[in-house]
Amino acid sequence: MASERYVVRVSKDYLVFCSGHFISYESDKCECLHGHNYRAAVSVEAPLDENHYVFDFIALKKIARSLTDEIDHKMMLPTGNALILVNTGERQVTVNFKDREWQFPKEDCVMLPIQNTTAELLARYLGQRILRELENRHHFHPSVLSVEVEESFGQAATYIWTR
Ligand SMILES: [Zn+2]
Repeated sequence: MASERYVVRVSKDYLVFCSGHFISYESDKCECLHGHNYRAAVSVEAPLDENHYVFDFIALKKIARSLTDEIDHKMMLPTGNALILVNTGERQVTVNFKDREWQFPKEDCVMLPIQNTTAELLARYLGQRILRELENRHHFHPSVLSVEVEESFGQAATYIWTR
């Protein structure tokens, strides 16, 4: 049987966030500090509403942008990583991985409640925050929501949430 579905997607220059990070891998290794010009794309699927659209593009862009703005030009630090230990002081953030230590000005950091700042988990983090915003503030309940985080050209991870 035929069926129809509608999806709206936003991906714009202002959903780019230039941020620093490093990830732990293979349980005992850690990358050197580096950064990416990430780009997020958000799409939502739902039946058409009475105005014949899935969801207001402008509102969706605003939500996505406010979240990418929070991490743009910041050092992204995961607070759920057992090996990357993040300690926030009054003005500095000290990060330890085994015998390595980094220090950052507090205002340059953003703490993320995730295990690692991989593109996959960044996409999930953004996706869950966007979903909360859509449901709580806009009373919009998409059937599918997905967030793509492109780390560099042609290299992206996608988080897909289905109701
Ligand atoms: Zn990286």
